[in-house]
Amino acid sequence: MSTVTIADRVNRIQESPSGAAAQRVRDLRAQGLPILSLTVGEPDFDTPDHIKSAAIASIEAGDTKYTPVNGTPALQEAILGRIERRTGASYASQELVVGGGGKQVIFLAFMATIDDGDEVIIPAPYWVSYPDMVLANGGDPVIVATTEADRFLITPAALRAAITPRTSWLVLNTPSNPTGAVYTPDDLAGLADVLRENPHVKVLTDEIYDEIYYGSGEVQSLIAVAPDLRDRVLTVNGVSKTYAMTGWRIGYGVGPESLVSAMNKLQSQISSCTANASQAAAVAALTGDQSFVAESVEVYRRRRDIAVAGFNSIPGLSCFAPEGAFYVYVNASGAIGRRTPDGTVIDTDQALTLYLLDRAQVAVVHGAAYGLSPYFRISFATSEDVITAAVEAIREALAELV
Ligand code: PLP
Repeated sequence: MSTVTIADRVNRIQESPSGAAAQRVRDLRAQGLPILSLTVGEPDFDTPDHIKSAAIASIEAGDTKYTPVNGTPALQEAILGRIERRTGASYASQELVVGGGGKQVIFLAFMATIDDGDEVIIPAPYWVSYPDMVLANGGDPVIVATTEADRFLITPAALRAAITPRTSWLVLNTPSNPTGAVYTPDDLAGLADVLRENPHVKVLTDEIYDEIYYGSGEVQSLIAVAPDLRDRVLTVNGVSKTYAMTGWRIGYGVGPESLVSAMNKLQSQISSCTANASQAAAVAALTGDQSFVAESVEVYRRRRDIAVAGFNSIPGLSCFAPEGAFYVYVNASGAIGRRTPDGTVIDTDQALTLYLLDRAQVAVVHGAAYGLSPYFRISFATSEDVITAAVEAIREALAELV
């Protein structure tokens, strides 16, 4: 057996729990079990044809070489145009970073700025990767629990209480994975007041789900509500979720030039640039026909309504209706403390998800993975039939608890 020594920065982190849940589903299906999976964190639609065609055309035209670190001129223009349309803020190409997904952009931001012991405030429940990315870069995640009563959003008072002289970043995610909660302009204005009192705190606002929104108007960006904070806000987005392009790996961020140039310097040594053909696809996504976006959101909206009504009708469960993204964070407190038919006590949300997998053959992800219990996350990026069947199977499994 190999005895390679692994660096502390890797030993500090864990594999993504949602990735682990998806792998468990694959393993059980390989054994022939008909598992219904509500774990998937990506659109179940195919990438629209005009986007695929643009990538094929770019390959055939010979665009198969390195590009500038932060993308081809066409991609830069497409991204900066979209940011300006959505936020009213105009950015130059030296304020733009392009990475292999929003995930890489977030990692680069932490890598470029965090020194050992720096703190990053992460409201819980959070996207599973934020704390591990902070740890991998030597920082200390400062987890701030939110409440369902506060719509799972960090309040100005909670933010103020969490800030210390070591605070490097606040991470905001709107709409949120895993809750689908969205910050209103008033919510953002309240946080901006606290940030003005604390000029050393930078803000990473992850808006990757901003187009998957069920409310009226548009999801508001911090930079639109508080343009005066522009010199310390990094706005992150990408094409993965909006255009069903998770496998193309294009994400981006805009922010102050000092930060972005450090991130681009790292990127130049890590991957040089993202894949040229994927960049052409992203240009077509951002500048081409947008009808896919509205059509897919209508499909998600119907699934959301089925899921929310279904989970709210199961005794012991309840849920907040997500305003964006494609997840429901189901409150499972009514199931905790009960016993399975074989006498096992369901003492945690993890025990509950294992019971549901075993008894209902439904895979969901436990709330502890997202930092707030007792909940579980379901993804409704799957068919209405699967959602309906999963709800009924969970209803029957919970009815057997005593
Ligand atoms: N941010 C959030 C909240 C996510 O849920 C994800 C993907 O699951 C990402 C960022 C990263 O997406 P990508 O790297 O595909 O752009």
